[in-house]
Amino acid sequence: MKDANQFNGMKILILGLAKSGYAATKLLHTAGALVTVNDASPEEGNAEAAELLSEGIRVICGGHPPDILDEDYDIVVKNPGIPYNNTVVEEAIRKGIPVWTEMELASRISEAPIVGITGSNGKTTTTTLLYHMLNIGGKQPLIAGNIGTVSCTVAEKATKDNIIVLEASSFQLMGTETFRPKIAIWTNLYDSHLDYHGTSEAYAAAKYNISRNQTEEDFFIYNNDQPDLRKYATRSSAVKVPFSLMGMKEQGISADDEQIYWNGEPYVLRSVIKLPGQHNLENILAATAAAILLGCDKKAIENVLSSFTGVRHRMQFVKELKGRKFYNDSKATNTLATKSALAAFDAPTILIAGGLDRGHSFEELAPYMKNVKVVIAVGETAEKFREFAASCGVDTITMAVDVKDAVRKAYPLSSSGDIILLSPACASWDQYPSFETRGDLFIEAVMEL
Ligand code: ADP
Repeated sequence: MKDANQFNGMKILILGLAKSGYAATKLLHTAGALVTVNDASPEEGNAEAAELLSEGIRVICGGHPPDILDEDYDIVVKNPGIPYNNTVVEEAIRKGIPVWTEMELASRISEAPIVGITGSNGKTTTTTLLYHMLNIGGKQPLIAGNIGTVSCTVAEKATKDNIIVLEASSFQLMGTETFRPKIAIWTNLYDSHLDYHGTSEAYAAAKYNISRNQTEEDFFIYNNDQPDLRKYATRSSAVKVPFSLMGMKEQGISADDEQIYWNGEPYVLRSVIKLPGQHNLENILAATAAAILLGCDKKAIENVLSSFTGVRHRMQFVKELKGRKFYNDSKATNTLATKSALAAFDAPTILIAGGLDRGHSFEELAPYMKNVKVVIAVGETAEKFREFAASCGVDTITMAVDVKDAVRKAYPLSSSGDIILLSPACASWDQYPSFETRGDLFIEAVMEL
């Protein structure tokens, strides 16, 4: 841990006690800070609060007392999910107290270089790909962020010999001040989380924090096919490493139908790649560029490209059964993600879709439905999806009570060579506690076949 004394004696308020607040509290308490924790949920049944109290840490549960900031805090560390219109956060900002997320702590204490990965889509896939490449390449990576362990806990243990591969959301990046990854990756930018950030510009600005503090000693890998990202890249002081799917480019990493190119030279044949989908090719380019910059040898990179079949629940190849290939894309909780999934396949597709009704239409999927021969509609939006599929001229449309029932109904309607794809275009909360549970049940049903 770098500068172990930097928080000694500081008065720090931790706002929100989920995984990240708990981790930040432990870290700062051990580092000699005077920590107060404030969590809106009641103390009763809050195991983390009980543990921290037993260690002599001050914990205030059950709401945010209006006078909580009357004491002079040096820093507030908030849970990334707490919005900026929270009264305590607003008051802290008014008083000029820095409001951080635990990612800022991670970057202040990490001895290991950090690769920060952000974007509206593709963060987890890119993070996982890069982690595997570095791992096989012997670079001792540690995975951190939403995908794994809280980043400040990872950073606390990391040494100079590690590389932290950190998945960073816009919420986490909002709360950074000095965060400066050695390599920043920005996969893409689509409107998202406007309820939290207010405007598209504020959302993009939060994402740009990934490169804001970088210098010419660092690298910025970004999607050159998106004009908005090209604009942000001109602001960055880092060495620019653009990625592009629009044919061979002299600078950065690029791809045409045959090859991936590194600085204009053929690097690897695309036929090596297992992971389907143009969108995943973007993730592959970004991860490969970072692996090359970190000194991974080509063999390690090729090894991952030829074996990686997807992160669980994200276009995950599950099984081939009598010529039918099953894919679990339960993480596709919006139409954008389902669009990418449908675009990934040329073969006849049996699509299992539907879930929580947020009042959106499925119209934007229409141009991607040409290979879909059967739709099995599930969940709250089943009827809506059935109507949509009918309007696209899909031959066979069936309703199912849940995802397992859908798999059982899909198989007899399929032939050898078909794709059977769960890509719901909806969140899972109408029937399941999470998209993970929905995907697990899909896999279970496939295995039962
Ligand atoms: P994130 O961690 O940013 O949510 P994931 O890697 O978990 O991203 O992928 C989430 C969903 O987004 C997947 O189901 C996939 O279909 C879609 N997706 C992944 N990468 C991209 C990309 N580069 N562009 C567009 N969509 C993508």
